[in-house]
Amino acid sequence: MTYSDWGGRLVTFPEDRARHYRESGMWSDDPTGRRLHQIAHRFAERTAVISAEGSMSFAELDRRTDQIAAGLIRLGLNRLDPVIFQLTNRQETVLAWYGCIKAGLVPVATLAAHRMHEIGHVSRKVGAVGHIVEVRTAGFDLVEFAREHATGHPSIRHIITVGDESGRDQPGVTRLEDLGLETDPVAARSLVEQIEGQTDPLDVAAFQLSGGTTGVPKVIPRIHAEYWNNALLYAQRLGWDEHSRVAHLIPIIHNAGISCGLHAAHSVGACLVLATADAPAAFELMARTEATEVLIGHGHYQAVLTHDFDKARTSLRRVVLSGAKVPPELFDRVDDGAGHWAGQLFGMSEGLLTVTPLDSPAHARLTTVGTPIASDDEISILEPGAENELRDGGVGELCCRGPYTIPGYFDAPEHNQNAFTSDGFYRTGDLAAITVIDGKRYLSIEGRIKDLINRGGEKVNAEELELLLLEHPGIANAAVVAMPDPRLGEKACAYLVSVDGEPLLLKAVQEHLAQLGVAKFKWPERLEWVPSLPHTNVNKIDKKRLRAEIAAKLLAEADAHGVVA
Ligand code: AMP
Repeated sequence: MTYSDWGGRLVTFPEDRARHYRESGMWSDDPTGRRLHQIAHRFAERTAVISAEGSMSFAELDRRTDQIAAGLIRLGLNRLDPVIFQLTNRQETVLAWYGCIKAGLVPVATLAAHRMHEIGHVSRKVGAVGHIVEVRTAGFDLVEFAREHATGHPSIRHIITVGDESGRDQPGVTRLEDLGLETDPVAARSLVEQIEGQTDPLDVAAFQLSGGTTGVPKVIPRIHAEYWNNALLYAQRLGWDEHSRVAHLIPIIHNAGISCGLHAAHSVGACLVLATADAPAAFELMARTEATEVLIGHGHYQAVLTHDFDKARTSLRRVVLSGAKVPPELFDRVDDGAGHWAGQLFGMSEGLLTVTPLDSPAHARLTTVGTPIASDDEISILEPGAENELRDGGVGELCCRGPYTIPGYFDAPEHNQNAFTSDGFYRTGDLAAITVIDGKRYLSIEGRIKDLINRGGEKVNAEELELLLLEHPGIANAAVVAMPDPRLGEKACAYLVSVDGEPLLLKAVQEHLAQLGVAKFKWPERLEWVPSLPHTNVNKIDKKRLRAEIAAKLLAEADAHGVVA
């Protein structure tokens, strides 16, 4: 077996660190699909997934995904072919994910919400061969979109649909539900084993996407040696076992979905309760299935404070909060010190995950994001823009290195030069500090350096959006900043300078972005027209000032309307 370095576009781990991770047991030689099969063999009759569509045992999941893998190969897809995913949280997404992985294909973790701007770029970057789309998504025809995208595309050869109940074959597309049905399960298993025999632990298992620090999203290659183990470490940190029922509300395709939801649950034989972002429906499903664990992103912080959450709370043992500072009233709602435990997760698709240990005091779980989950994880807080380490308590840039943190983005040599320190630590762009509580060192998140907006967990890259806004003939200058939002945490506000002194309506600017094929969650939700943008004394746009200005303005508006911002 030799792994593919994708013609030099994949950055590999330095040999000494790779050897160390193998020896310390942090890395595995078994490909990801085999890890699922081993678990499915062990917990065959236990429930693997429950969603609004129904439930499935590990044996069923294993058998069906073997067949899907066989169907994908029969269709003409080859090992290491990238496949673009545009699916929401539903059972077939789990089938498609494992089916691709078992076929040796590489799922690309794009979103159903992405449009031509994102899909066109990412699919060309990775040389996507397949495109899996959901048929019924809120008011947008993804099948037609996939066809349009494939026209003249250099590498896309297959469109696969999920959820097509029309009963008719649509020209040029294959239904996931039909894939491999004719294949005998024993033959499908042996085909999967054959593919796994060709898989090197260093081969890419999946491509995740980064929110990006500059321009368009960067591609994050996660490899077989570490990806499943990363999830297993997370599950072990939280004390899960085969009796756990793990609910997930945010996109399962995101790294947090895969590493803290799907793979994490399955790595210990636990059941994934696959819900959607619709909080009342999700809480209902959690109550009905007696979910014991849940990850709550900051987009759902408010929903947890409502009565809708009451029933779900009864069976929950652990609630992990993530994405933004945790308000004490939220913590108290999910942690009563007697059977209901709350903690925090900090993490990124590039790798590093930190979680508050189960036995840490409530104060540490309320105010910090805990400690890294792997004993081989290394973190250091550096002076921003430099490489000197700060003392405990000092706020600086969080940098990390470890068995499951990428040593480089895919095909991005120039970006990688700045994204990593000289000794290979990834510069996260997050501001953090080490806080010592009862003699133990915990990590706390204190802000960020990177220029993005965190809209309920979806990242909007400011520079990417500014460049797109500047393509409008009426916009002379643009600065995009985060404005506070009570539900989503942050939303994008664009400070704009008009070409002719005439401001455009928000709708016109949004239509411009729609025409450019930009995903809706990135569109600015407020415009502030100014004669010119303020600059700092080093001649950079003064975004700190703009952020403070819009926050104060929103507060004043809320006061004037008598509402709490
Ligand atoms: P992603 O790769 O999309 O998962 O985004 C990772 C980024 O989300 C991190 O680099 C942080 O900027 C942010 N993030 C994740 N977890 C937290 C948290 N608990 N508190 C604050 N920011 C977070």
